[in-house]
Formats: sequence, structure tokens, C-alpha cells
Amino acid sequence: MGSLSLDIENMNVTNEHKDKLEKSEETTSRFKQFKRRISIKGIKRSLSRESSSPTSPPPSLEENGNVDICATQGRLESYKKICRLGEGSYATVYKAHSITNTNQIVALKEIHLQEEEGAPFTAIREASLLKKLKHANIVRLHDIIHTKKSLTFVFEYVNTDLNTHLENQGGSLHPSNVCLFLFQLLRGLDFCHRQLILHRDLKPQNILISENGELKLADFGLARAKSIPSKTYSHEVVTLWYRPPDVLLGSKDYSIQLDMWGVGCIFVEMITGQALFPGMKDFKDQLERIFKTLGTPTEQSWPGVSSLRYYKEACVKSYRQKSLRTSIPKLCKIPWAAELAEQLLQMDPKRRIDTKVSMLHQYFSSLPPSVHSLPHTSSIYNIPSLVYRPEPSNNN
Ligand code: ADP
Ligand code: MG
Repeated sequence: MGSLSLDIENMNVTNEHKDKLEKSEETTSRFKQFKRRISIKGIKRSLSRESSSPTSPPPSLEENGNVDICATQGRLESYKKICRLGEGSYATVYKAHSITNTNQIVALKEIHLQEEEGAPFTAIREASLLKKLKHANIVRLHDIIHTKKSLTFVFEYVNTDLNTHLENQGGSLHPSNVCLFLFQLLRGLDFCHRQLILHRDLKPQNILISENGELKLADFGLARAKSIPSKTYSHEVVTLWYRPPDVLLGSKDYSIQLDMWGVGCIFVEMITGQALFPGMKDFKDQLERIFKTLGTPTEQSWPGVSSLRYYKEACVKSYRQKSLRTSIPKLCKIPWAAELAEQLLQMDPKRRIDTKVSMLHQYFSSLPPSVHSLPHTSSIYNIPSLVYRPEPSNNN
């Protein structure tokens, strides 16, 4: 399993191993053979090996505020379901409590397996990604349970997701909370990008928010982001709202900039309370919404754009170049918000700023310098001056 598990991990390393990833994603028959060879038991073994390694001890109560439940035997009987939390693209998520661990509340992400198919590739990918990502702003994977019929991930339970949170507030968030959320989003993403791991499916539904204002990235599962599937296995429509124009235009040469566009969209959505580019139909409609707001790209504004696969098809109407702040005046009311949003929402991916530059942006100048030197597993709220003030419910 040693070299095989390494193979799986390498598939998540974006730049250097893109060829490998492409082959395994596109060649269905080879993929099926490969998939059969992967043993979930092997993944589980490597998960427990990691948590018992002397160099990476399991998280303590102080570290992440949770009781460590890595010691469970990986048995479904150890958990009792309380209610359903969400139905995603290929899994159902339940709130549950651990019977063996002082009733610790957890989230069970349950994937039903078809016997001849074995574990889905996306699930294997999520497991191999998450075991590496121990960070205060990334949802913690406690355990993984494999039975004949299902594969279940046991995650720390987080109160809600950003989509529901925004809905509950009836729209936009207080500017100081937007600042705290955005910083945490960038912090979690920075940790991933440093390891050359892309999230690939950033959207409010995949961002969890705790009652005390902690933000955690979740759902590292989209293995086929590149081909932009229009439907998932469960025929749920995949949202294109957070996809960047280069990917929508058919570029396969993407990297961390893919996630940065999503960050920009989510930033604006938290401020205005409305999705920035809510396309209703296909990728062309999605692109048209972007171009109406920012202008249709040309070779002058974005060198190389005309050679992208769908350029001719999608860039038919020529909308005038505009700045984001003219379309969304609310951005100008918050110091430096328009500048940061514009730098994140650059259509040319080469001009889009990365996590590191974003975190040092003037927009965050109200945060104390110590936010940049926290240990990975420390919450930003360990800094006494950073206080989360919950929104009054329905602030409209
Ligand atoms: P999918 O891959 O099927 O989209 P997700 O991991 O995004 O699955 O989970 C679907 C939904 O379940 C999320 O949008 C969120 O509302 C809820 N959810 C997921 N993980 C947790 C968690 N750890 N704690 C609380 N709720 C969660
Ligand atoms: Mg999801």
C-alpha cells in the first residue's frame, strides 16, 4: 500500500502532477482498474498511522477545542444519528453523537457504495487530502469508517455553512465579520495552496461557520473540476457561480488562481448579501454575467484570451470594460474592500492575487500583526483583541 497511497496523494499535487491527474480523470477504463486496486483499508491504515505518529500527535483539546476521537475503532455503531444536515453531490451528511466519546457531536458524511464499484474516486481523494490538512480553518477529519455498503467520514461538527448563515441573516454581514471571515478563508486556503492543493469547489455551501465565528473549509471532493461537469452522479446541477472566466472559457492551465476567483465572489457576496454572478443556464450565460459587470475581455485586456477554446463562442457581445466598484457601489463604503475585490476578481488569471498577497492587503490593516504568525491549529480568536460579534438575526 505504501507506494499506492503515495500515488493517490500525488494526484492532489496540482502543478507538477497535472499529467498524472489528467490521465486518471479522463481514461475511464484505466481509472476503473486503478480504483479497484485502491484499498480503503490501506487509506484507513495510513490515517491511523499518521495520527499515532510521534511527529504528528493527534490534536489536543486545547488545540482545536474538540475532544480527540481518533481513538475510536472506526465502527458505525459508535455513532448515533441525530438529524440530516445536508444532501450534497454524492453524499448525505448527518449530525450524530459519538456513543463512546462522551456524546461528542460529529458530522457523518455518508457515501453509499455500489458493491461492484467500490469506493468513489472523489471520496478517496477527499480522504487523502484531508488527512494532510490539519488547520484551524479546515474542517477536521476524525475518523473514516468503511463497510460493504458505505464509506463514512467522521468530521468535527460545525454549526452551519456560510450559505445558510447568509440566508439566516437575511443578506449581508457586518463589515467587521466579513473581514474576520475573509481572513480565515484566506488562511485556510493559504495552508492548502502552500501544499499545492487546490480546493476547486469554493462556494458558501462548502464553507462552515461555527457559533463563535470560526470559519472552516469543507468538501475537498471535486476531482473532475477541470471538465466542469454540468451534472453530478445524483443529477444535482453543479453551480458555476464561483468558477473563473478562464476555466469557463476552456482553459485547462489553471492553478491556485482558480480558487482566488471564488474567494473574490464570496467576499462580495458577504458584503452585498447577493451572489455576484448567479448564472441561470450554462457556461455561456455564466460568462455573459461576468462580462456585463467587468467588460468582455480582449487581447489587449487579457493577452492570450482569444486562443481559449470557447472564446469565439462565448465572447460574441462586446461589453464595455468596467471596474467592479461602478457595478457594486456598496464596496466603496468599506475601506479598501473595492481594491481587494478588484484584485481577486481579475479576469486574466495571471493578474489575480494569491492568498499571501491578499492576507497582507490594506483591507486587513485593522487586524493585529500577530494574525500572521499564529500556529496553524490556533484559532484567530486566540488573539484577545479579535472578537466575533454575532449578527443580530435577520439584519435587514
Ligand atoms: P457534498 O460533497 O455532497 O457537497 P459537503 O461536505 O459539502 O457534501 O456537505 C453537504 C452539506 O452538509 C454542507 O453544505 C453543510 O451544510 C453540511 N455539512 C458538511 N460538513 C459538515 C460539518 N462538518 N458540520 C456541519 N455541517 C456539515
Ligand atoms: Mg458540498
